[in-house]
Amino acid sequence: MKCPLCGLSFKEVDSVAACRGCPISKPCGLIKCPNCGYEIPGESDLIKLLKKWKEKRNAIKR
Ligand SMILES: [Zn+2]
Repeated sequence: MKCPLCGLSFKEVDSVAACRGCPISKPCGLIKCPNCGYEIPGESDLIKLLKKWKEKRNAIKR
């Protein structure tokens, strides 16, 4: 996807990794640009996918 602010193209997965500093442990539902930090409202289907992916990771940790 493309950041509307700085125009940087990045993968949604990278944007979530950039949002690790979020005080909430759950995904905040925003796609954050790794370049300028601009937060873009994410696509619901994509967020669902990412949530599943995170749940999978948590399951492996336990
Ligand atoms: Zn940006």
